[in-house]
Amino acid sequence: LVHAELASHGVEVLTGTTVEAISKGAPGEDRRLRVEAVTASGAAVTRLADLVLVVVGVRPDTELAKAAGAELGARGSIAVDRGMRTNLPDVLAAGDCATTYHRLIGETYLPLGTTAHKQGRVAGENATGGNREFAGSLGTQVVKIFDQAAARTGLRDHEAAAAGFDPVTVESHADDHKAYYPGSHRITMRVTGDQRTGRLLGVQLFGHKHAEIAKRIDIAATAIFHGMTVDAVSDLDLSYTPPLGSPWDAIQIGAQAWSRQARPR
Ligand SMILES: Cc1cc2nc3c(=O)[nH]c(=O)nc-3n(C[C@H](O)[C@H](O)[C@H](O)COP(=O)(O)OP(=O)(O)OC[C@H]3O[C@@H](n4cnc5c(N)ncnc54)[C@H](O)[C@@H]3O)c2cc1C
Repeated sequence: LVHAELASHGVEVLTGTTVEAISKGAPGEDRRLRVEAVTASGAAVTRLADLVLVVVGVRPDTELAKAAGAELGARGSIAVDRGMRTNLPDVLAAGDCATTYHRLIGETYLPLGTTAHKQGRVAGENATGGNREFAGSLGTQVVKIFDQAAARTGLRDHEAAAAGFDPVTVESHADDHKAYYPGSHRITMRVTGDQRTGRLLGVQLFGHKHAEIAKRIDIAATAIFHGMTVDAVSDLDLSYTPPLGSPWDAIQIGAQAWSRQARPR
């Protein structure tokens, strides 16, 4: 879905392709950046670009902390407890350099601005004599791609399986508001739940940027945060008026699709 949106805006997407070199023509030559890559099948690909963004993930720079004796945790980040305390007396760590407590899987590394703010507040309070605990992350994220938005919260199917759950993931579609009212948009949903307990484990949403994708993923995040079952999402009292929603909100239609397939009554 993301690929299609990029392509419809003239973006060429090459996956499974390794960039080997980026060079710039000498003065007098074409001054655009020359990106040389090799596809998975070994074919050489060259493209000229005005701008190259290097997006290779996040790695915590914890050399200083390590040299000072700090224990490291997931992906080399500084190991902290729920109070953001390191193993070193009077040293607290928060944000992208520190481990993150995840409400479904425990300690992990999940560098996000939302998490950094909450961890920073906990660390600050504890540094000044307080006793606060970081409540935990679910990795809730949303991103805009041209006219579309993609969002996730909780675990994807393979992550849930790796964490010992018995996940079932069901894909479904629903309109953001009543289709008879102009301007409605289709939302694609993936709901992951635990087949043993019925617990909601994760949701992914994709749809138009005006389809309240962020609001809807936040409903799912709230539900997962408080350990709700997928069935219980269907019972939530959510708002409705035809230009803005449906009597069953899209997120509830996704929950019902999951319950029909994964735990038929
Ligand atoms: C392009 C981009 C987009 C993002 N979009 C989102 C988003 O949409 N939503 C979201 O939740 N998160 C987003 N993030 C992640 C978010 O920005 C980070 O998780 C967050 O900023 C981490 O906060 P922090 O305080 O831990 O670290 P930082 O914000 O990196 O702050 C660390 C600071 O320490 C300083 N510093 C480093 N070394 C030293 C030193 N030796 N001495 C003194 N100062 C030092 C740095 O200069 C920096 O100012 C995005 C990140 C990037 C890069």
